[in-house]
Amino acid sequence: MSDPTIFERIIDGEIPADVVHETDRVIAFLDANPLAPGHTLVVPKEPYERLRDTPPELSAEVFEAVRTLTPAIEDALDADATTVGINDGPAAGQEVPHLHVHIIPRFEDDGGSPIHAVMDGATVGNEADSEDIVATIVDELE
Ligand code: 5GP
Repeated sequence: MSDPTIFERIIDGEIPADVVHETDRVIAFLDANPLAPGHTLVVPKEPYERLRDTPPELSAEVFEAVRTLTPAIEDALDADATTVGINDGPAAGQEVPHLHVHIIPRFEDDGGSPIHAVMDGATVGNEADSEDIVATIVDELE
């Protein structure tokens, strides 16, 4: 068995966290290195590493918590908008190998960027064959 992640240690009460919401299966707490005031992480208590590993009913609970928390956090911080995101896998920047959704309050003048900034705004243009991509994704879903 691998060592417990920092989030498991928070869930076990071993490490303190600023918890804003908790159910039997989901917990949400403030990020220790917030990108904005109110930056919150929504985490399933069972330690699945990635979205693909997470059972459907648990991911539904995680996203229901995101749906409920997003306007609550926005209103509490008097924010204008929210960026919601998952670094799903190390190549996407995931540092803690325990699924979590970032809720980041956004403000008109915060100087931040949209999600497109993860690739510096560069698009891959039309080189990719979208018909093949669609067909392959549809195959994978079957
Ligand atoms: P990731 O890069 O894996 O998507 O995000 C991990 C997040 O966990 C980071 O934003 C980081 O600031 C946060 N984090 C790391 N360690 C702790 C901790 O001990 N407590 C809290 N509340 N957040 C943490």
